[in-house]
Amino acid sequence: MKKASRCVAIDSSAEYAGAVQPIDPSTAFEYIDSGPQNYPRYFNTPNQNSVAKRIADLEGAESGLVFSSGMAAISTTLTALLRPGDHAIFLNGLYGGSHTFVSDELNERGVDFQFVDKSNESFAGAVKDSTKVIYVESPTNPLLEIVDLREIAALANQHGITTVIDNTFASPIVQNPIELGLDVVLHSGTKYLGGHSDLCCGAVVSDRDRMDAIRKKALHYGGSLNAMTAYLLDRSLKTLEVRVRRQNENAMNLARFLETHEGVSRVHYPGLESHPDHQVAAAQMRSFGAMIAFELAPEIEIERFLRELELMRPALSLGGVETSMCVPATTSHRGVEPEQLNSLGITPQLIRLSVGIEDGEDLKHDFDQAVTNAAEGCLTSG
Ligand code: PLP
Repeated sequence: MKKASRCVAIDSSAEYAGAVQPIDPSTAFEYIDSGPQNYPRYFNTPNQNSVAKRIADLEGAESGLVFSSGMAAISTTLTALLRPGDHAIFLNGLYGGSHTFVSDELNERGVDFQFVDKSNESFAGAVKDSTKVIYVESPTNPLLEIVDLREIAALANQHGITTVIDNTFASPIVQNPIELGLDVVLHSGTKYLGGHSDLCCGAVVSDRDRMDAIRKKALHYGGSLNAMTAYLLDRSLKTLEVRVRRQNENAMNLARFLETHEGVSRVHYPGLESHPDHQVAAAQMRSFGAMIAFELAPEIEIERFLRELELMRPALSLGGVETSMCVPATTSHRGVEPEQLNSLGITPQLIRLSVGIEDGEDLKHDFDQAVTNAAEGCLTSG
C-alpha cells in the first residue's frame, strides 16, 4: 500500500471497525478476563495503541509508542538504550533541546559521549568498543544538512551499534530511515504528524526487542499521551501525505525564489542543486522536505522584517499547515553557547522557514513586501 492509503486505512482488527477509533478516555480498565492490563501510563490504551500502530506502519517499523512530547520520546529512548559507562556518538547540530539533554542529562548519568560533524569519517573515527548508540538528524535543524544514512547504518552494523534518528524534519512521508538500515526512529509529533499547530506529542518506532526496552523505561518516566490528543493525532495522520506533499511543493518553489532574491544572501534547502548534499538527499528522500533556512541580507534588520510579514508569521515550532519563521539563534538554539552557535554556522541573520499549504504566489508576495518595507524602514531610520 502507498503512503496516502496507509494514512487513511481503517484498522479492520479494531473492535468497532469504524472509520475512526472511538475516543476512550478511561483511566480504569477491567482486568480479570481482558488479557493485558490497560492503563494510560502503560502506553496501551485503545487510542494510544491505534495511533502508535499507524505511525509504526508509516515508518515500516514493527512496533511504536506515542508520548506526551517529542522530548519525552527522545529522553526515554536514550535512557533506555544507554547505561553508565556506555559511549554514544551524536551529530553536532541536533535540535537544541536534544543537544542540551545530551550534555546535561547523559553527563549526569555517567554516559560517555561525543559530538561529531556529519561526515562518515568523523563517525567512524569516534567509534569505541563501548559505543552503543549513534544518534543523528537528517535534514538537520536549522541548517538542513544531510547525513548519508546508508553509510551510517553500514558503519553501525559493522560494530553492532544501535542507530537512532530524529526524523521530525522529514516526516515519514518524505523519508523512512528503517528502509535505509537504521534501527530506531523518533518524531516530535508536535510538528508534521500533528500538523495543525495544536498538539504536543512524540513517537518512537523500532523492532519489537528495542521497543520492549523503551516501553519498560517509558513506564518509569510516565510521559504517556492522553486519549484526546492521541485521537487528534490519529485524525491528523489521515491528511499527512496530502499536507506534506503540498508543503514540499511550496517549499521547492519558494527555495528557488529565495535563491535569486536580493533580500537574501544564502539559502539552505536540500532540493536545490546548489546544496552541497543535494545528491545524498536525492538518494535517500522521496522529496526534499518543507523546511528552508536562509540568511537575510545584512542590511535588513531581522526583527523589522519579521514584524512586516502579513501572511507568514514569526512563530516557534514548525510543520504546521501555516507558514512560519523563527530565528534559531534566539529561539530553538538559545541554550547553546555562543562559540558553539558560531561553529555550527547559526548566524544572527539566519531564519528558519517552515513552509505551509498556502497559495505559493501569496507566500512570495508576502516575502517581497516584508523585505521592501523592512529595507525602507532601515533606510529612513538611519
Ligand atoms: N526534534 C526536533 C527536530 C524538534 O524540532 C523538536 C522541537 O522543536 C523536538 C525534537 C522536540 O519536540 P517537542 O517540542 O514535541 O518535545
